[in-house]
Amino acid sequence: MTSISAAELGSRIGNYVGGEFVAVDPARERLEDRNPATGELLAQVPLSGSAEVDAAVQAARAAFPAWRATSPMVRARAVMKLREVLDAHRDELARIVTTDMGKTFDDAFGEVGRGIESVEHACSIPVLMKGENLEGIATGVDVELVRQPVGVIAAITPFNFPAMIPLWFLPYAIACGNTFILKPSEQDPLVSMRIMELIDGIEEIPKGVVNLVNGGRDCVEALLEHDGIDAISFVGSAATARIIASRCAAVGKRCQALGGAKNSMVLMPDADPELMVQGVLGSAFGAAGQRCLAGSIAVVVGSPEEQQRTINLITEAAAKLKTGDGADPTTDVCPVVSPEARERIEAEVAKAEADGCEVLLDGRRDGGAAGAELAPTIIDGAGPDHHIVREELFGPVLAVTRAADLAEALEFVNSSRYGNASVIFTSNGGHAREYRFGVEAGMVGVNVGVAAPVAWFPFSGWKDSIDGDLHANGDDAVRFYTRSKVVTSRW
Ligand code: NAD
Repeated sequence: MTSISAAELGSRIGNYVGGEFVAVDPARERLEDRNPATGELLAQVPLSGSAEVDAAVQAARAAFPAWRATSPMVRARAVMKLREVLDAHRDELARIVTTDMGKTFDDAFGEVGRGIESVEHACSIPVLMKGENLEGIATGVDVELVRQPVGVIAAITPFNFPAMIPLWFLPYAIACGNTFILKPSEQDPLVSMRIMELIDGIEEIPKGVVNLVNGGRDCVEALLEHDGIDAISFVGSAATARIIASRCAAVGKRCQALGGAKNSMVLMPDADPELMVQGVLGSAFGAAGQRCLAGSIAVVVGSPEEQQRTINLITEAAAKLKTGDGADPTTDVCPVVSPEARERIEAEVAKAEADGCEVLLDGRRDGGAAGAELAPTIIDGAGPDHHIVREELFGPVLAVTRAADLAEALEFVNSSRYGNASVIFTSNGGHAREYRFGVEAGMVGVNVGVAAPVAWFPFSGWKDSIDGDLHANGDDAVRFYTRSKVVTSRW
């Protein structure tokens, strides 16, 4: 099997419209896409505008009538084929993710696996799309609910899971009988290009059912404005999610907009130390803290002595983590996505320091070959309203805060405007139960650092971590990508 590198993909980057790879008008602006570990220029990403979006919408609309009329079993088989092809390219896709986004190969491999799980779930569409009925609501009168596709779906995705997040949407959308346009992050679009190439080889997925447009804000603007798009699936920062959701509401498009996060990890003094340290480090510093489920606050519970013991354990272990190129198998902490991201995160650390916080572990360094490296950083003493405690930094920075008991810890966690995830480390079932019952977060971990649900459950953020009601994955995906039609018949 041939294996394609990120640089090869970058050399031919363009859009995928109506089953054809098309170059984007050379007059359009290009954005440099570089390997965050080495600085190698991988691609000049074309920033599509309304003309390119319109071409993709025309192709998707043209493909819709025949695709929605295709039997769900046949559509399921097409998705099974997609699963087969992705499965055969796991390594290659993971390598592209590592080169383009920066995360370690193991992490990227896990990401690709998670994406494939969504495809696997979507293979059950004939069961998932089944309707309901109620017989005899009056004499000779029956009611049935059928689920029908929504139409043309556009998905706008972030940089941090460039393979998995497009796969949170694409397989369900098409399995439900919709046609689909992907607008990946302009910071690392290469794995999406490769997925399109693989889809191009699947004859069970007709031309125009899946399309790709590369671009940035103007491209998103064009997608939001286009009358030919019926629904938008979005994942990205909270600020962008709010923009997308408000625009969709204004123009009457169905929308799910999954936003940012600030996730707390509650560390009880009775936690198993090894399990806790491993969980905290993986959550705070894995993928350089660039996960929406990353634990970026440690809420350390107990007496002052117990708190100090926990903080020392974590700081000492974090100091031993190795920061470097994600392609190096000995690396624990990869670079952040770009030198600009590192500068932004370092400025936040400097601000916290200037505001009187104590930097317990300082990961600021020369930035490595591409200027994007930042080692694990731990900050103590930020007040409850400090920016570093309230807002997402999206880097390998852990803020420490203290609580005398679980009730105080819960009060702190629930004061966040975000509600994506929260985890507790404890060996006490009663504490775990109290936490699980009271915590205001949609994805909760007990002795698990990254509480990522498998695809058969919704990716269930709460509060400002989502705009819209239906999440990605699980039953929510099918409800989002279908409209229910209720038929009342008398015979
Ligand atoms: P981002 O909001 O900068 O970009 C996401 C997408 O929106 C990209 O495709 C980008 O081109 C587009 N975009 C950016 N700004 C825009 C604007 N002003 N108008 C229109 N479109 C715009 O997010 P990112 O930095 O790529 O991704 C990281 C963020 O995503 C973090 O906040 C992270 O928590 C969040 N995230 C959330 C989840 C979740 O499930 N809740 C999952 C992964 C990532």
